[in-house]
Amino acid sequence: MKSLQELTRPNIWSLKPYSSARDEYKGAVARVFLDANENPYNNPTNRYPDPLQWEVKKEIAKIKVVPEESIFLGNGSDEPIDLVFRAFCEPAVDNVVAIDPTYGMYQVCADINNVEYRKVLLDENYYFSAEALLAAADANTKMIFLCSPNNPTGNNLSAGEMIKTVEGFEGIVVVDEAYIDFSSEPSFLRELEKYPNLIVLQTFSKAWGSAAIRLGMAFASPDIIAILNKIKYPYNVNLLTQQEGLRVLGNYEQIREWVKTLIAERGRLEALFTSLECVEKVYPSDANFFLAKVTDAVRMYNYLVGEGIIVRNRTNVALCKDCIRVTVGTPAENDELVKTLKQYKG
Ligand SMILES: *Cc1c(COP(=O)(O)O)cnc(C)c1O
Repeated sequence: MKSLQELTRPNIWSLKPYSSARDEYKGAVARVFLDANENPYNNPTNRYPDPLQWEVKKEIAKIKVVPEESIFLGNGSDEPIDLVFRAFCEPAVDNVVAIDPTYGMYQVCADINNVEYRKVLLDENYYFSAEALLAAADANTKMIFLCSPNNPTGNNLSAGEMIKTVEGFEGIVVVDEAYIDFSSEPSFLRELEKYPNLIVLQTFSKAWGSAAIRLGMAFASPDIIAILNKIKYPYNVNLLTQQEGLRVLGNYEQIREWVKTLIAERGRLEALFTSLECVEKVYPSDANFFLAKVTDAVRMYNYLVGEGIIVRNRTNVALCKDCIRVTVGTPAENDELVKTLKQYKG
């Protein structure tokens, strides 16, 4: 790996971050806060929240078995995805490499930040080769993006190829694990200590059932986390989100039950789909959705919309011609989808 200083944009490396009132006060227990120009009334939302969300991180650290200093919390995973571009990629000079197809936000953030986005097509079974990804990189490649289980394909990437990528690349490898709770493979979090160039992304939006609160997690070396903390908005995660995040973390048993149900429903729904005449192929999934190749994705999508059921048409995505992506719902919702499709003449 190159040194973190070599990988970081020089202006970011030398940046003196904004210092908020709550950053500067870190001492004995205080009784009277007259430092941040807050209104003293309207409890409990009159005060600025903890800029580094330590209470939430403490609970995440226990569940994920990582040090608190290796955790960054953001406004969804989308925030750390944007921040890594701003931290490491010099606009119009540096580039990143990613598998294709994958989650659309990596390219959007690359485009916003004027960073070249190099796509390497997966094979027909939606696997990638480390060799091909590394061959697409050059001296200005700062990051490689992997997503496992991948969106929209649903499959796990090969852990062996991911390790080869992390070991063979001089820059930073971002592994997006938004769907890891549904996966049969273990998380890359356990590789964090071994690889200082690894960033793992997870989120409260999927298995944790909290898309509305916008809480995303990035896990990495304390040095990388310190860079992200330096450039984030001072109060990037609001108090209500921190409180609700804590409540959800205390509800871990319920989350595990939901995940078990959703995985069972995924299997049932995939089997039902396979038996439908309008479905040509159901791709294996380790997520809470699956991709199905159908006779005519546009027609099926429009038919379902007419029946009040919304799936995702992915026909315009690379390697996904005539594919629709189906999120696993409740047993009743899944039954309704299958019942409706049985009446569809593909
Ligand atoms: C849904 C999803 C996310 C989650 O984004 P949030 O901003 O945390 O809601 C991240 N990565 C992938 C691949 C996703 O599909």
